[in-house]
Amino acid sequence: MTRYTDTTETRQAIIDACRWMNDRGINQGTSGNISVRVPDAILITPSGVPYDRMTPEMIIRLPPEGEPDMGGDLRPSTEWRFHQRLLAARPDMSATVHAHPAHATAVAMQGRPIPACHYMIAAFGGNDVPITPYAMFGSSELAEHVAEAMRNRHGCLMTNHGATVVGESLDRALWRMEELENLARVDLLSRTAGEPVILSDAQIEEVIAAFSNYGPGK
Ligand code: 13P
Ligand code: ZN
Repeated sequence: MTRYTDTTETRQAIIDACRWMNDRGINQGTSGNISVRVPDAILITPSGVPYDRMTPEMIIRLPPEGEPDMGGDLRPSTEWRFHQRLLAARPDMSATVHAHPAHATAVAMQGRPIPACHYMIAAFGGNDVPITPYAMFGSSELAEHVAEAMRNRHGCLMTNHGATVVGESLDRALWRMEELENLARVDLLSRTAGEPVILSDAQIEEVIAAFSNYGPGK
C-alpha cells in the first residue's frame, strides 16, 4: 500500500487522476470524485468543480471520521460519506475513486451485479462486482449501501448511478476502475449474442491466489 502525505504533489496527482479518467472516457464532466488517505485526514476533490479548472489548493481536507467543515467556498465532494467510510474500513487501501463510466453505468442501470464472466473479476476480491440498491447521490443511505457492498470487495456498481473502487494506491484505483469498465463492456457485448459462461467460485479462488504472486517484483 502506498502512503501519501498532504503535499502539492499528492493534490496534483488527484487532479491528474480526474483528468486522466475524463481523457480516457471513463468519466465525464464534473461527475465522479477521488480521495486519498494522508496522515490525520483524507484529501478529496471539491464538489462540482470542472477538473480542468481544479488546482491543488482547491483539494479539500476531510477529517478521517465525523462531519466536515461545510462553511468554506468550496465544499467536499457530495460523496464524502462513502469515501470516508471506505477508507476507514480498509486500512489496506489508500485511495477511493468514484466515476460514471458508460458501460459500468449501463450495467448499473439494469440493477444487477457483474458476475464471474471473466477471470479479471478476481481483481475485485471475489466472484462478482456487487451492485448497491438505488439511493440519492450524496446521501447517508448511499454511503451505507456502498460500505456494505464493499465490505469484502474492492469495487461495486451503484444502481442508476455509476461505480466505485478502492486502491492500494491512486494508480491501482484507476487501474481497477478501468478494468471494471472493461468488464462491464465485455459482459454487455457478450450478452448481445447469448449468455456468457460463468466461472465457478473455485476457479475465481484460484485466480485470486495467482494474483497475489503476479507482476514484477513478486
Ligand atoms: P461531486 O461533484 O459532489 O463530487 O459529485 C459528483 C458525483 O458523481 C456524485 O455522485
Ligand atoms: Zn456519482
